[in-house]
Amino acid sequence: YLADNMYTMVRPEDRESLRQRLQKEEKGRELYYRMRYTVVTKKGRIRHVDAVDRLVVTPEGERLHYGFSLPMSETGVEQDAMTGTRRFLSYASQFLEMYQEGMAMPALNLIFFNVERFKLYNIKYGIEAGNQLIARCAAVLQQVFANDFVFCIADDRFAILTDALRVRDRVQEVREILRQEYSDRVVAFHFGGYRIMDPREDLHQALDRARMACESIRGRLDTYFYEWTDLMAGRMAIRSYVVGHIDEAVQKGWIRPYYQPVVRLDTLEPVGFEALARWIDPERGLLMPADFIGSLEDSQQIDKLDRHMIASVCREYRQRVDAGKPVYPVSLNLSRLDFFLINAFATLEKYVKEYRVPRNMLRVEITETLLVGQEGRMAEEVNRFREAGYQVWMDDFGSGYSSLHTLKSCNFDLMKLDKEFLRPFTERGKKILENVLEMTRLLCIRSLGEGVENREQLEFFRAQGCELVQGYLLGVPLPYEDSITACQKRLQQLRKAGLK
Ligand code: C2E
Ligand code: CA
Ligand code: CA
Repeated sequence: YLADNMYTMVRPEDRESLRQRLQKEEKGRELYYRMRYTVVTKKGRIRHVDAVDRLVVTPEGERLHYGFSLPMSETGVEQDAMTGTRRFLSYASQFLEMYQEGMAMPALNLIFFNVERFKLYNIKYGIEAGNQLIARCAAVLQQVFANDFVFCIADDRFAILTDALRVRDRVQEVREILRQEYSDRVVAFHFGGYRIMDPREDLHQALDRARMACESIRGRLDTYFYEWTDLMAGRMAIRSYVVGHIDEAVQKGWIRPYYQPVVRLDTLEPVGFEALARWIDPERGLLMPADFIGSLEDSQQIDKLDRHMIASVCREYRQRVDAGKPVYPVSLNLSRLDFFLINAFATLEKYVKEYRVPRNMLRVEITETLLVGQEGRMAEEVNRFREAGYQVWMDDFGSGYSSLHTLKSCNFDLMKLDKEFLRPFTERGKKILENVLEMTRLLCIRSLGEGVENREQLEFFRAQGCELVQGYLLGVPLPYEDSITACQKRLQQLRKAGLK
């Protein structure tokens, strides 16, 4: 490089800073150096260049610079989310190529950065404020990871390939800065990390793993950085298995409803059941909703599950009636995505007619929605079900961001109080529940306490005039007949133990 041909291309005002940077590299201990400068091409065009350079001293004492460069936008940080992933992958693969010829690779970490609840931030403060937040994140990332490229790979996500040695400190620094600036706000700043061990790593997979690591702490307040471990590989494998086998699972009947009893508190008798999906896999055994709901929603296939559950619940109802067995009303869970992927109402109607199920024997459970501007749509859907004769229950009240808004705009028949209010079971939690129950009375909505696991919680709901309860204390989800038997046994025990 001392042949100066590099400098002649560089814009005069940038030459000195580049010279200093290169000198620092010769003395310094960084593994590689990042530089920015502006070159003037032979045709006189100006190009901003972002380069990575590594100095290698050969046994003969020769100094070689391995480097490569990317064209850079004026603003510095690449904000083009559409092409961000592709650019990141092409950059990272070039970077790793430097080490494929046997040169020792430094410990590298692929960092995935995500602004949690960014959508909510947009709802609250507007799109313009959202853009500013992202620009600020980009700037802080760039400032702290000064020696690395920062890529924006989606609206609120960034990827960085960096030296692993000080990664924890840097991540913490970014988070501290952003948290101070956005202290009272809704967003949280989360990082996922993946250690790259081999220059031949599959980078798509590496990025996926950093993302998975980040997603695994979604919603958590106690931690903000999670590194991929091989244990996570199992979960990831289940996710992709589910995405690829949902059709087969539905077709071959691997997915079936389990039923959890709903109990009336004043008389302590079962008055219905909630249908919960269980995927009984011939190879992988029992899969729980936590194993498959998320990936089915992400891959926009949740409607396949829900259609199958609706059909199964209706078919089983008809079989029981035909066999002269007792029947109870059943509640079905619909994902809010169902309303966009399919016509949920028409689907339910189809099976209700096919299997001749009275509409008052089915309830529809819906959790609140976070979709901007869709509250009106939700209210319409709720009314459509209610007018046809179905009860509509609001699931997990209090678990989301817009519980009160949803409650205000939609006419639900019943409110299910989220089980997290009971965990841990504190005086504060009780006060909140007491007042929410008071609110249900004022709004003339029925109430159901979810997740009751012990006598104390049951007595509390009873004392507060809650109408219905659900929970392991009264019965876990089981196949229909088993669930009835188990629940009756539990209720008998409870009565014997002094609950009338
Ligand atoms: P959810 O609708 O809130 O259902 C209640 C969940 O709490 C169930 O978990 C149930 O087993 C669990 N649960 C019940 N009582 C207790 C208790 O006393 N303590 C504790 N810790 N947990 C209790 P499950 O079956 O794993 O389902 C999880 C979630 O998956 C459901 O939450 C629901 O949102 C979703 N889901 C289940 N089946 C379907 C389905 O067919 N379609 C859709 N869209 N979602 C479903
Ligand atoms: Ca539910
Ligand atoms: Ca629930």
